[in-house]
Amino acid sequence: MKARVDHVADEAAMLAYGVALAAELDPDDLVFLIGDLGAGKTTLARGILRGLGFSGHVKSPTYTLVEPYEFGSTRVYHFDFYRIKDREELEYIGLDDLLGERAIKLVEWPERASGRLPTPQCVIRIRADGEGRVVEVQ
Ligand code: ADP
Ligand code: MG
Repeated sequence: MKARVDHVADEAAMLAYGVALAAELDPDDLVFLIGDLGAGKTTLARGILRGLGFSGHVKSPTYTLVEPYEFGSTRVYHFDFYRIKDREELEYIGLDDLLGERAIKLVEWPERASGRLPTPQCVIRIRADGEGRVVEVQ
């Protein structure tokens, strides 16, 4: 993943940004999506899934903690740890097993599961910038 910082003007551009990023991901990459509530993490995850070839609905995993996707030979787990209250919830979803699978893992709010996640291949930070966003890829 090439490091970069870009201004992303609106939701459509965020989806397109995710589509472009998808082409650079390996099949078992761990990707952290970091930013405040409403930053655009789920939107970017939707774009990534679209870029990987998924054409269905991508719902926010806010309540389920994880949403799985399998299409063709591609597997994706989309996590959102915003609502985690205690570590047992991570056991409950079988986090360690999911992390061990050959799948792309997109993680919103990785900070809330710190110490339970390995070093990511890619960290994406999103912050407000006027009407749009700044996206920083590391
Ligand atoms: P998060 O998952 O970080 O809480 P969402 O992806 O749900 O954020 O997006 C929150 C809102 O921000 C949505 O209304 C979405 O359309 C909007 N949004 C996403 N990306 C951008 C962008 N680059 N510029 C402006 N608005 C955006
Ligand atoms: Mg979200």
